[in-house]
Amino acid sequence: MVLDKLSSSLRNAVSKLRGKPVIDEAAIMDFLRDVQRALLEGDVNVKLVLELSKKVKEKALKEKAPPGFSRRDLAVKILYEELTDLLGKRPPSLELDGKKTNVILVVGIEGSGKTTTVAKLAHWFSKRYGKVAIISSDVIRPASRLQIEQMVGNEVPVFWKDSKDPLDIMKTGIERFRKEKYNVVLIDTAGRHKDEEGLMKEMISYYETVKPDLVLLVIDGTIGQEAFNQAKAFAQSIPIGGVIVTKLDGAAKGGGALSAVAAAGAPIYFIGTGEKLEDLERFDPDSFVSRLLGGGNIVELAKRMEEAFKETALLEKISKGKFDLEDYREYLKQLTKAGPLDKLLEMIPGLGSKLSNMEFDPKEMRRWMAIIDSMTMEERRNPSIIRGSRIERIARGSGVTAKDVRRLLKSYGQAKKMMESMSSPAKMRRLMRRMGISE
Ligand code: GDP
Ligand code: MG
Repeated sequence: MVLDKLSSSLRNAVSKLRGKPVIDEAAIMDFLRDVQRALLEGDVNVKLVLELSKKVKEKALKEKAPPGFSRRDLAVKILYEELTDLLGKRPPSLELDGKKTNVILVVGIEGSGKTTTVAKLAHWFSKRYGKVAIISSDVIRPASRLQIEQMVGNEVPVFWKDSKDPLDIMKTGIERFRKEKYNVVLIDTAGRHKDEEGLMKEMISYYETVKPDLVLLVIDGTIGQEAFNQAKAFAQSIPIGGVIVTKLDGAAKGGGALSAVAAAGAPIYFIGTGEKLEDLERFDPDSFVSRLLGGGNIVELAKRMEEAFKETALLEKISKGKFDLEDYREYLKQLTKAGPLDKLLEMIPGLGSKLSNMEFDPKEMRRWMAIIDSMTMEERRNPSIIRGSRIERIARGSGVTAKDVRRLLKSYGQAKKMMESMSSPAKMRRLMRRMGISE
């Protein structure tokens, strides 16, 4: 597993928290100290660690766990979300233009793992995007061509020519692969220079000559938070489309590298997890963090809590006598599932039987949700303005008739009236207190 050490420290922190008899401020602080230690040992930047723990502390103490969940669950869910945030946004999907030769320039400093990564990428792309080729332009280390050929075998052609000028090699190679209608061309480059300025000048000359469709920056995961400066330096010279962090297998500082790249604002597309062709993984902060924390049950917990939060928010609104179309949409969604809302509605005398008399048809409910989706936010918040031409527009937008829209509005009106008559605010508040939803 990638980032073994960080993973086991975080898991220990979570199970220690779970074992505590009482979750008070002291217990949360103890949990946070464990989390901080784990992250700092993983070389995550101190400032980032402090920010994260401050947020977890605030939320874990202030927010109220929805019914059926404990403060332990809440703290774990918040940690999961904040760690995901720390690792940046989910990278955009790799949409390549199917009608042309997509040129991908791979840059990075010497030793970061470019050549290895280019071979891995070629393997990855050729499984998904048709014909893939490689240009080997490292004139400082011409042996890198053999290194690639050894890795990809006959799977992918590798272009190279005997020249001292990388730009010449790139241009000739691209021309050839364009003519032969390749879908993807990956360019391996050299990354050695006496100084950073010289290196960046060279990067700019590559970029201007090749005019690539995508630039991928390779960063060595073992350098930890130093990755921040490297990502910044490259991004200031040429537009970096995405980053690949390598050597995460066994890199004690891998967490530091990943969070530093995210902090530098560059999306992480892939991670390298070994020296073989297959050791390349698409990076997604969500699933990465869930693995780090020990798998599916934490994601499951986070999802269930998110749903429960929505349900309680909806109940609070109803109790305050507010119920607009946006709420109605959420209500329709909840009606299809069993949850606290169900239980609550059953407890309101008369409401449960009334609801079952109304006979909601799931197909109809989905159509209603689609109709609400094609309304503006103003209309959802203030349904009384929906008349005449608005109804026509909404019907067109959701592919139904004006009659359908009117039926939805009518059912919304009925539901709203029912909520109001069945649930006097005082009665609702009592119920919610009983269920532990509000103080
Ligand atoms: P370049 O100089 O940037 O082209 O780097 P190379 O591709 O030649 O890689 C430098 C060294 O790092 C080689 O020994 C590679 O086998 C190794 N390497 C690259 N990626 C990984 C990885 O993800 N995991 C491990 N363990 N080693 C890697
Ligand atoms: Mg190389």
